[in-house]
Parts: sequence; structure tokens; C-alpha cells
Amino acid sequence: MTERRPLWIDGQPVSGAGERADINPSDTADTIAVHAEAGRAEAEAAIAAAKAAAPAWALSGPQTRHDILKTAGDEILARRDEIGRLLAREEGKTLKEGIGETVRAGQVFLFFAGETLRQTGDVLPSVRPGIEVQVTREPVGAVGVITPWNFPMAIPAWKIAPALAHGNTVVFKPAELVPGCAWAMTEILHRAGLPPGVLNLVTGPGRVVGQAMLDAPALDAITFTGSTATGRLIAEACVRHHRKFQLEMGGKNPLVVLDDADLDLAVAAALDGAFFSTGQRCTASSRLIVTEGIHNRFVERLAEAMRALTVDDALKPGTEIGPVVDETQLAQNLRYLDIARAEGGNLRAGGERLSRATEGFYLSPALITDTTPAMTINREEVFGPIASVLRVPDYEAALNAANDTEFGLSAGICTSSLKHASHFRRHVEAGMVMVNLPTAGVDYHVPFGGRKRSSFGPREQGAYAREFFTTVKTAYTRPG
Ligand code: NAD
Repeated sequence: MTERRPLWIDGQPVSGAGERADINPSDTADTIAVHAEAGRAEAEAAIAAAKAAAPAWALSGPQTRHDILKTAGDEILARRDEIGRLLAREEGKTLKEGIGETVRAGQVFLFFAGETLRQTGDVLPSVRPGIEVQVTREPVGAVGVITPWNFPMAIPAWKIAPALAHGNTVVFKPAELVPGCAWAMTEILHRAGLPPGVLNLVTGPGRVVGQAMLDAPALDAITFTGSTATGRLIAEACVRHHRKFQLEMGGKNPLVVLDDADLDLAVAAALDGAFFSTGQRCTASSRLIVTEGIHNRFVERLAEAMRALTVDDALKPGTEIGPVVDETQLAQNLRYLDIARAEGGNLRAGGERLSRATEGFYLSPALITDTTPAMTINREEVFGPIASVLRVPDYEAALNAANDTEFGLSAGICTSSLKHASHFRRHVEAGMVMVNLPTAGVDYHVPFGGRKRSSFGPREQGAYAREFFTTVKTAYTRPG
């Protein structure tokens, strides 16, 4: 029998205005569970609950928050195989990737459990004699968390854990395609001891639940990860409400390969960065910018490695690339391939819809060569297992091509030249730079974020997360 999963509002499981089946993209005949979907009324109830719970949670103290976050992190780590399997079944990344992401989510909760005990402030003399100045941080209040489908454990973890650690309450709206992981995380946090109203889960459509969050004056801040188009709507609404917001959005990340690169390393970095997790990563290496002297060898070796990849059911042992997340995303990938060919690119490998034992959204990883910077494939985010190759004469041209984009999330370079690596690190317009590494794959204890149209607001993750989830207070006291 198919399980039915409710919303969580004010510490209670609540049925929604509608329901949605959670479908396995590797096997569309497999319904994982049926999830309640909130309507506007449920979203408003969740916002009211978060607002009402905020004052008490703000005063709950670091030990309480530490213990809850640690308990939740420990449980996520202990259940890594089971939750990783749910993740792979629901989102379509491979079982190994699903378990890896679940471990990351557990680590994030443990990191922020520690952050509750690492609060800092300043006490200093005023410029006016006899007066003392204190600079402290306070929670922002009730925070809206709106997340995408591609990292259904890690992204909610790196928003919800710091929000709670720094004393905020949360209204959590996950992407429609991944309610199962969201429900699992919410349930774990409640059993770990979160008081009612501190975390409220409202699964449901962006244009209903998300819109209700944007319209609500009661939310003090919104942290969002998703597409640049939705990010713009969030920004406009937050400006109207004078509300704090943070946006992590799209990417068109370059991986530069210079003549002096280690060819094996460059091919491995491109293969991982462009195609693992089915290329559905905001940090995916979607533009491979390659200098003349290594271009042909690099393309040949990469195409060969791509053809050797096993594309199949995410849960099947040996699968290296799972399905695309749904039919819409698959159609979008195929459309971008058509446009790339129509504009003069050559499909060097992959790009075909594949049949497997079960009905799913399988696409062979695609490489488009002979592209120019002006082509659509080099300007718009595809968000699938598709990479383009740009051939350039030298390092200077490679750097210019890397920066010739409205995005600025991650950028990589493969080279054995310290001079070029150092110059690239300094001059590439991106929030994260990788030298001899894939553009995707980051740590959780250091800042994450980009520039230009990829990001807006303070960085996420690590100690830097406190910038968004706290507000600074400066107090002046004349003792006695
Ligand atoms: P999306 O923008 O369609 O949806 C993201 C979230 O916003 C979902 O929860 C959705 O329901 C909600 N939403 C949609 N319309 C809304 C509205 N009108 N009001 C409020 N909320 C609304 O993005 P997606 O397809 O889920 O995710 C893919 C995108 O996410 C890609 O562009 C990818 O680059 C980006 N992404 C960025 C990062 C990063 O850190 N920079 C990380 C992962 C994904």
C-alpha cells in the first residue's frame, strides 16, 4: 500500500489542500509515496506558527539547539543507506551519490550543532569615556526556506541547520519533485526535540505555497536556491516587504583546460564536473574551454570516457549516471541539443534518449564541440548531462571566454602552470574557483556562493552562514 505523508504545521501532521504522487524517475510505475500539498491557507498557518514560535526559540539557548541539531545529524548519518536510497529513488542520482549527499546533510547538522556553541560578540570601550559598547548578534526571526529538487537533502540541510542554530524558526517549502527527503528531514528534527512551530513543512506548488510565502509580511527573511527566473520574483517580493533575502541561482560554469594540463586529470575533472549527478548541479562544468594544443586529444579522450559510462536505474549496482529528473527536464535537454546543432555545434557524443528495463527519463551524456561563445548552449543554463567545448588559442582567450557569461558561480582550470593557476584564481569572475579539480564538489565548513546573476546576498555554509541568519545589535551602556 502506498504511504501517505502529511504536512507538518505547528508540530502536528496536517493534511493539505491536495495530494501529489512522488514518482521514481528511473521507473515511472513506482510511486514512492503520496504527499499532502499545502494550499494558501496551510501556508499561512505555517507562517503564523513559525512567527508565534520565534520569540521562545530565540531565547532557547545554545545547549538546547546544539543537542537537537546533533541528535538529528547523528540520526541522518546512522540512516544514510536508507535515506540515500530514498533520495536516489526520488531524484534519480545514483545510490552512491544519494548516500554521499545524505552523509553531507548529516555533517552539516553536526557542524551547525557546533556553531551554536561558537557564538561570538564584542565588548569594547566607546569613543566617549565611561561608556561601554557591546556588539551582539540576534536571530532574524521567522525564515522562509525555498529549495530546488537537485540536492533534496544537502541544500535544505545547509539552510535549515544554520537557521535553527542561530535561533530562527523556519517555514520549509521544498521543490515539488522531492517531498520525500523533505518529509524525512522534518520528521527527524521533530523527534530530535524541536518545539512545535519551530520548523514547519509545506510541500506544494511554488506558485501557490511559494507565492503565499512571498506575500506574507510575517516572514522576516527568505533564503532561496533555484532558477534565476524564480530568484528574480523572490527578490522583487522581498524588496517590496523590506525583508532580508539570499539567493543562490543558476550557473554556466567554465572548466578551462590548458595545453600543459595533465590529460588524465583534465578528462576526469570534466567527466565528473559535467555529467555526474546527471549534470543536474548548479556547479556543473557546462562549458569546457580548451586551448589548441590539447583540444583534439582532450575531446577524443572525453568522448571515449563518456561512451563508457553506464546510464541506468539509479538504484542498480554499477549505474554511473541516473535518469534526468522528469519528462519536462528531459524535453528541455533535448531542445537545447537541437538548438546547439541548429546553431552550428557538432554532437560529438551521446544526446540520445535511452530505453532501459523500466520506463524512465534516460539520456546519454552529450558533448557538443565546435561551439562559439555567442551560441545559446554557451549562454543559457541547461541543467542536464550536456557540455559544450569552446576551442581557444591561449590562456588569455580562455580567461576571457570563462568570464563571458552573466553567471559566476564556480570556475575551474586544469594546468600545471602555477603562474596561470594563480592568475586565474585572481581574475576569474566566480564565487568559487577550482584548480585541477571539477567545478562541482565543495566542502561544508567554508563559504558557498557566486557572483553576477548566480547569487545575491551573504554566502551560505560554514561560519559565513551567520551573516544571513543573524542581525547585529550595537548596545551602548553607561554603567551605574
Ligand atoms: P525553480 O526556480 O523552478 O524552483 C526552486 C524552488 O522555488 C522550488 O521549491 C519551487 O517550487 C519554488 N518556486 C517556483 N516558483 C515560485 C514562485 N513563484 N514563488 C515562490 N517559489 C517558487 O528551480 P528548480 O528547477 O527546482 O532547480 C533548478 C535550478 O536551481 C537551476 O537553475 C540550478 O542552477 C539552481 N540551483 C542553484 C544552486 C546554487 O547554489 N546556486 C544549487 C542548486 C540548484
